[in-house]
Amino acid sequence: MRTYRRGAVDFVRGEGSLLWDADGKEYLDFLTGISVCSLGHCHPAVVAAVQEQAGRLIHVSNLFYTEPMARLAERLSESSLGGRVFFANSGTEANECAIKVARKHAHGRGIAAPEIVSFEGDFHGRSYGPLAATPGLARNEALGPMLPGFRSVPRDDAAALREAVGESTAAVLIEPIQGEAGIRPISDEALLAARQACDESGALLILDEIQTGVGRTGSLWAYQQTPVRPDVLTSAKALGGGFPIGACITGPAAADALEPGDHGSTFAGGPVATSAALAVLDVVDDPVLLRRVRELGAELREGLAALDGVEEVRGRGLMIGVGLAEGIEARAVGADLLRRGLVVNVPAPATLRLLPSLLVEPTHVERAVGLIGESLLGFSRL
Ligand code: PLP
Repeated sequence: MRTYRRGAVDFVRGEGSLLWDADGKEYLDFLTGISVCSLGHCHPAVVAAVQEQAGRLIHVSNLFYTEPMARLAERLSESSLGGRVFFANSGTEANECAIKVARKHAHGRGIAAPEIVSFEGDFHGRSYGPLAATPGLARNEALGPMLPGFRSVPRDDAAALREAVGESTAAVLIEPIQGEAGIRPISDEALLAARQACDESGALLILDEIQTGVGRTGSLWAYQQTPVRPDVLTSAKALGGGFPIGACITGPAAADALEPGDHGSTFAGGPVATSAALAVLDVVDDPVLLRRVRELGAELREGLAALDGVEEVRGRGLMIGVGLAEGIEARAVGADLLRRGLVVNVPAPATLRLLPSLLVEPTHVERAVGLIGESLLGFSRL
């Protein structure tokens, strides 16, 4: 179906930060499948893990245990909130689980009509639960009626959030850095307001780390660089290094909310996907790599901020939004960069989004800044 506006490129091969199209043209990839191939394309450890597991056991269903699934659950829990993990196949499914956890937890507290509060600009996915928590998309009446029980407050508005959270709130569900909105970090003040409002009302704080997690911001989880710790966090995208997998990870307060019969998935947590994720975490969960992400991210942001045509550079680690000067059409810049051999993305009218490999080389950072600078010169002269 025509659900995507696709760039007119047919990619056939990838290695590290590079991609090649069917005509043999080389591209520098600063999007990595929207922060999915965070170790670069075809990282040897991920390829080996997938190949080895695929040759041994591909699927048995969730009616049984497999070792990679158990090891991954333990590893995700120990690296974050210490509770239980539900595996999914995508980000939106990880959030579906979080929404179920929140509603069941709220019913347990006697709330008849639980509500979930998010920020304007949040993106939580496209199945109907997360869609209802994605204010910009939930307004699309052609897809209605939407699931009830969701409300939003202006982005980063600590006072409005405090006011919106009350007796019937099941959860505050937010992204610590809004990705699809153009890389917009939520302030510590607003995060603290969310934590405090949840503590006072008994609601759960759910952080959607589907884009920010797995090292993207220079810590394994983005919340680790903020003053708050959530009750639930969701992960997907980079977790499988390109192999589809999602996870809803709880802290102790929400760990036992769901019981047999409440939720499930045929494919989720399969041995190949969980083996891929274990290989990813072996590489990413490393203080040396995470420091390098912070350092290279700072270099990239500095280089971009010095360019003509750049008004603002936002983000943390290697999750970067570039706000362009007024009058420059970001979509045209994105298309021009693709012609020049640099893959980026345009999530908002005046914003370029850069999500390079966490293993990107400093020379690639220089090359990307150079290409963006050259492209913007053309647009500034118009
Ligand atoms: N949450 C966030 C923050 C995302 O960035 C995305 C995808 O862009 C999703 C949820 C949905 O993930 P998926 O497309 O895997 O369903």
